[in-house]
Amino acid sequence: MELNSKCPTGAIETRWDRHRFNLKLVNPANKRKYTVLVVGSGLAGGSAAATLAELGYNVHCFCFQDSPRRAHSIAAQGGINAAKNYHNDGDSVYRLFYDTVKGGDFRARESNVYRLANISLNIIDQCVAQGVPFAREYSGYLDNRSFGGAQVSRTFYARGQTGQQLLLGAYQALEHQVGKGTVQMHARTEMLDLIVVDGRARGIVSRNLITGKVETWFGDAVVLGTGGYGNVFFLSTNAKGCNTTAIWRAHRRGALFANPCFTQIHPTCIPVSGDYQSKLTLMSESLRNDGRVWVPLKGGDKRTPSQIPENERDYFLERKYPSFGNLVPRDVASRNAKMVCDEGRGVGETGLSVYLDFRDAIQRLGAPVIKERYGNLFDMYNRITGEDPYNEPMRIYPAIHYTMGGLWVDYNLMSNLPGLYVIGEANFSDHGANRLGASALMQGLADGYFVLPNTIGDYLASNKLDKLDDSHTAVKQAVANVQDITKRLLNANGKRTVDSFHRELGKIMWDYCGMARNEQGLKKALNEIPALREEFWKSVKVLGSGEELNQSLEKAGRVADFFELAELMCRDALDRNESCGGHFREEYQTPEGEAARDDEHYSYAAAWEYQGPGKSPVLHKEPLSFDYVHPAQRSYK
Ligand SMILES: Cc1cc2nc3c(=O)[nH]c(=O)nc-3n(C[C@H](O)[C@H](O)[C@H](O)COP(=O)(O)OP(=O)(O)OC[C@H]3O[C@@H](n4cnc5c(N)ncnc54)[C@H](O)[C@@H]3O)c2cc1C
Repeated sequence: MELNSKCPTGAIETRWDRHRFNLKLVNPANKRKYTVLVVGSGLAGGSAAATLAELGYNVHCFCFQDSPRRAHSIAAQGGINAAKNYHNDGDSVYRLFYDTVKGGDFRARESNVYRLANISLNIIDQCVAQGVPFAREYSGYLDNRSFGGAQVSRTFYARGQTGQQLLLGAYQALEHQVGKGTVQMHARTEMLDLIVVDGRARGIVSRNLITGKVETWFGDAVVLGTGGYGNVFFLSTNAKGCNTTAIWRAHRRGALFANPCFTQIHPTCIPVSGDYQSKLTLMSESLRNDGRVWVPLKGGDKRTPSQIPENERDYFLERKYPSFGNLVPRDVASRNAKMVCDEGRGVGETGLSVYLDFRDAIQRLGAPVIKERYGNLFDMYNRITGEDPYNEPMRIYPAIHYTMGGLWVDYNLMSNLPGLYVIGEANFSDHGANRLGASALMQGLADGYFVLPNTIGDYLASNKLDKLDDSHTAVKQAVANVQDITKRLLNANGKRTVDSFHRELGKIMWDYCGMARNEQGLKKALNEIPALREEFWKSVKVLGSGEELNQSLEKAGRVADFFELAELMCRDALDRNESCGGHFREEYQTPEGEAARDDEHYSYAAAWEYQGPGKSPVLHKEPLSFDYVHPAQRSYK
């Protein structure tokens, strides 16, 4: 299979404009003849559904929560990037493009990244027009702060609630269309299969989560904005409901899964506190603007932080990376935290945490300023740990946070299955092997408000599709597949809970495919995962029936998909014999312990094709080329 990225050529600054001009348009009067199914109502799905409806298409939008407002996007804390250069500190579209390609360790497409950087300007204008209450300076101008991997301040924020405020903006745009009847919203509805007819995505099969009713929905195109799959690790900063089911079941129907092993570990999370914990909490990266990361110089130092004098502290990020200091990218900060803990210098009871200290910032700026900037994050930390970060340093440790991998898409955000578009965290498009902080919200909104609404018309205008109904064999097969999975899960009637399997799977993934990976561990995981999966299908216990609200059944279906995805992630990690970004293979590192890429052999996106249960997937490679930002060893020193 040849992967055609459809990336335009020529001067990078004008690629998107020229590409857009060459796309076919759907005449305004014809738009209402088309129906688009948008699965997901987070920032990506919500913005796409609202914009497509505003353009005139008929839209059905689906989410599994009780309201679009509960999409995981609401949890985003720190901010959203845009190259506005309001601080006049040397930022530009080109610099954001450069930082993103470099930050992703040269494993993303230049054309996509440039477009994203360019569109970042429009996103802020769009959101301000919607009334998103971004933080402002005294002068009235929008304020900015810095995030990792950048030496400029380009992150727009609304305290520690940026995702919530942006989602309210997208939600009101969505509800406006719901009110006009152009969007039909289906909450508490979970997509469980993709309907593919003659190689094209034509619909979905869903389960009503209240009644259990299995239903079919048909459209001219299907858009998946279904978020990331970090919860394969069980413990992560993601909302508990985040899962892979929509994209995994599309993968089983032929959509390629790209770079599944590229996962992001976030350096500043509240450390794990016990064996029965089910959720980890992020402390936003924005805290690294003012917080200083350190550990005691000597291992085993059990003194309280205030008893440790300045000359017996190691501000290891500032020491090793003087140019970027505490604002090195996430992969670098996480790996270094792990390194000092592995050396026995970690703090806290388990020794698996480092300090994030605001003492100097409070002395410099005063507690009210710090409260103004991070008040809700400090409160959250205090409530969870019982420790007061105004008086003693926070303790943080890296945790699973984001997935750069996802379904493969071309420059138009269409997967290899014609008619299936994938947006937001669910696709693999723009972040390469490591996403920079505050760039996920930017990408989700770029995809939903600006890219997809332009590109989807080209497909719709170019293809005449036949009417479809439940009598079609492909539809019957997809419905039967959903019913069969539900029945198998309910009939297993074993003795173990879904969570106990998920927890065990997550531990295998964290130990062998987490912050550091090696050949031996990945091979071990590839033995253990299928065995555990087999046991799952034999001995899982799902209470209740399929004809009612049954969260145990919902979870079981999602965990069944996580098992298959986990295996693909390990296979992908084993296949990529290099280190890049968040994919750190211990065998491939520089003498200083930094990731050592192998551009000669691995400068490609790995896109895996499903071959059927128990069969090895086939790897397709999309070569990457760099005309502007030339691959070099990343340095933040
Ligand atoms: C704690 C935390 C803080 C973060 N802070 C930031 C930040 O400050 N800045 C930043 O840029 N990024 C941040 N991120 C990342 C960012 O929040 C996410 O990448 C982004 O919000 C994902 O948006 P999305 O629209 O792609 O997916 P989501 O918001 O996850 O939405 C997914 C949607 O798909 C629906 N869905 C999923 N599966 C199905 C199915 N099978 N059937 C029906 N519906 C389905 C869900 O119901 C939901 O509506 C943060 C992430 C975390 C975990």
